[in-house]
Amino acid sequence: MNNNKYKILLVEDENNIRNLVATMLETAGYHTVIAKTCSEAQMMFLSHLPDLIILDLGLPDADGLCLLESVRKSSLTPVIVLSARSDERDKVTALDMGANDYVTKPFGSAELLARVRSALRTSRHSSNEGKLPGGKFTLHDLVIDYDARRIFIRENEIKLTQTEYNIVAFLSEHCGKVMTYSSIIKAIWGHTHEGSVKKLQVNMANIRKKFGTRIGENNYIINELGVGYRMNADKE
Ligand code: CA
Repeated sequence: MNNNKYKILLVEDENNIRNLVATMLETAGYHTVIAKTCSEAQMMFLSHLPDLIILDLGLPDADGLCLLESVRKSSLTPVIVLSARSDERDKVTALDMGANDYVTKPFGSAELLARVRSALRTSRHSSNEGKLPGGKFTLHDLVIDYDARRIFIRENEIKLTQTEYNIVAFLSEHCGKVMTYSSIIKAIWGHTHEGSVKKLQVNMANIRKKFGTRIGENNYIINELGVGYRMNADKE
């Protein structure tokens, strides 16, 4: 019996999906507690204090976002939302309300477990994830020197504009987590107006060009279509 197992609260009303996910988690060595409704989940959260919550949004008694809202009032427990493919707006809302990540149904075991590992890692080292002493961040061949505001890939300096640098630095500070378009825009420009998303996309296209990103390569920054951008923390 391993007492160091992470405890995951799984909130899902559909039997098939709940059983499938519970099996995936248990097989991977996580301890799983289950709730089928929002009110059950509230109680389980308070009594079990899980390390992570996997939350379906469509629950019989209430919207899963209600649970997210009440959890965020008192804790930073990572929350991964389960959502249907077409619900881009739900994903954005959940992320802006403090969800750490989302997984789109249908999903595979490998994808879900990668998201779980990433969310647990981020919460353990939220203040210094990926950062080295001296204000440096490294990810594969990418190095960011926060003090000097310089970026290197394979030891070659990448010349970015101030705005481009700010975007990359912001994503690196939240490495592994999807940042919504509006959260990036707010962080970089301080306000949102018509055309902000377009402006962000133009900057991002320039960053990709300067990074020399090619299709099929391990991309440092992933575009989550309709939702936002994520600095890719997954090791190949
Ligand atoms: Ca459901």
